[in-house]
Amino acid sequence: MMEQNDHKGTVGFAGLGTMGREMALNLLKAGYAVRAYDVRKEAVDDLLPHGAKGAGNLADAARDADIVISMLPDTPQVEDIVYGESGLLTSPLRGRLFVDMSTISPVAVRRIHADLKAAGVAFLDAPVSGGPVGARNASLSVMVGGDRDAFLRAEPYFRAMGTTITHMGEAGAGQTAKLCNQLVCAINLQAICEALALGRASGVDLDQLRNVLLGGSAASWMLEKLGPAMVAGDASAGFRIDLMLKDLRLVQEQAFSLHVPLPATALVTSQYVEARAHGEGTNGNQALFRVYDRMTNQTAA
Ligand code: NAD
Repeated sequence: MMEQNDHKGTVGFAGLGTMGREMALNLLKAGYAVRAYDVRKEAVDDLLPHGAKGAGNLADAARDADIVISMLPDTPQVEDIVYGESGLLTSPLRGRLFVDMSTISPVAVRRIHADLKAAGVAFLDAPVSGGPVGARNASLSVMVGGDRDAFLRAEPYFRAMGTTITHMGEAGAGQTAKLCNQLVCAINLQAICEALALGRASGVDLDQLRNVLLGGSAASWMLEKLGPAMVAGDASAGFRIDLMLKDLRLVQEQAFSLHVPLPATALVTSQYVEARAHGEGTNGNQALFRVYDRMTNQTAA
């Protein structure tokens, strides 16, 4: 095993939050060396006992790395690690590879791709789906945009974090796929909220309702994974309302620029805005059901 690990690369990993922490741990488990960086020092320290080396800034994480991977909240944070003070453009990883796995703007992605390419760095947008559980189990779906040769170089690293690894096309194509994924998730969650609201008002047991729906054609990832917390009124975050709102904004921007009407996305977005206005921004997505609590003047169990 050691000889095999000796041949594996070094990953500079930026962003050790809900998702990034688990993804970095899976890279370590797969035998890669990880230089971990986060603006929260405690997040870096947390990975040290697992074999990661700590980095104080992005340049430090990127030094000697074969690949730099980021898992950050939004577009400005990714731009920061590319264009910022200790960003990738200040000490370019010439001949190396940068992979952003966050969900960010496809427009920004195409600009980053061009700027890094000019500096001799290959770039891939590779957002993921599967949530914290998928991140923990290394079963994420990874949607990749960028040059094919860069994709082939990054693929072994993706295999340490996910099971469905798909090269979607040129720069930005990964983010487009992820935005499609997000609108399906949000609208599906809204449909579940409506079923639970109607079932509850009709006096049906919501655990039983969830079970019976899971056994038929209404089954879905959202119903299976988030249903129990919705029924129990547990709002604790895996994927935050704020992050979904960020994604829905990106969906709407792209749809607007391409003249694609998305009426169901517009409706569910306004419900997410309502949830945030009621202080639910840092709650998990299942807290969308609280919008229906308010509309029906009822609460979860
Ligand atoms: P998170 O907020 O839990 O983690 C982000 C981490 O980045 C934090 O630890 C934060 O301290 C760090 N950070 C912020 N700015 C930084 C900077 N400039 N340099 C270095 N570190 C910085 O977010 P998350 O839930 O892990 O999500 C990360 C990305 O993945 C988001 O784009 C999100 O939309 C996407 N995503 C999340 C989920 C989920 O279920 N949570 C699922 C799929 C995709």
